[in-house]
Amino acid sequence: MSLSIKDHLIEEADYFKSPNQSDRSENIDLIVIHCISLPEGSFENDNPKKLFLNQLDFDKHDSFKSLKGLKVSAHILIERDGSLTQFVPFNKCAWHAGESTYAGRDSCNEFSIGIELKGSIKEEFTSKQYLVLNNLLYLLKEEYGEMNIVGHSDIAPNRKNDPGPFFNWDMINV
Ligand SMILES: [Zn+2]
Repeated sequence: MSLSIKDHLIEEADYFKSPNQSDRSENIDLIVIHCISLPEGSFENDNPKKLFLNQLDFDKHDSFKSLKGLKVSAHILIERDGSLTQFVPFNKCAWHAGESTYAGRDSCNEFSIGIELKGSIKEEFTSKQYLVLNNLLYLLKEEYGEMNIVGHSDIAPNRKNDPGPFFNWDMINV
């Protein structure tokens, strides 16, 4: 899939504006890779999308109770088939990193783009996801300049373990 960007949105993505966003105070120079599935390991639903839009029914599953009241988002979600949903324009902060530190700098949301892969820390990601992710990373670097790429676990190691051991960093070729 060839991707293009206009007004800080991927034109080929579905766009659902998340209320969980804020203005940036710093330039973008970091990309944070995450994975998400709700419940963990269940991929054939739009629960992550609902979570990012504050529309998830927290009573739907026992594991959702701990998420109650959480206000989170990501810039973009890559589904198992490679399709894209964007929630926050790249020039705004998405609320994906939480309490985090990168190279001595706190609050990584201020200077990063958050990319979620539909997936689990216990399973392989799909080849279509890697293909679209590489296209996306290439485009983002063209648009916003050179950026480092890390996992959520790299910037919040005591709290987070995504994208996990099955995410193959060797597949990233930008
Ligand atoms: Zn994460």
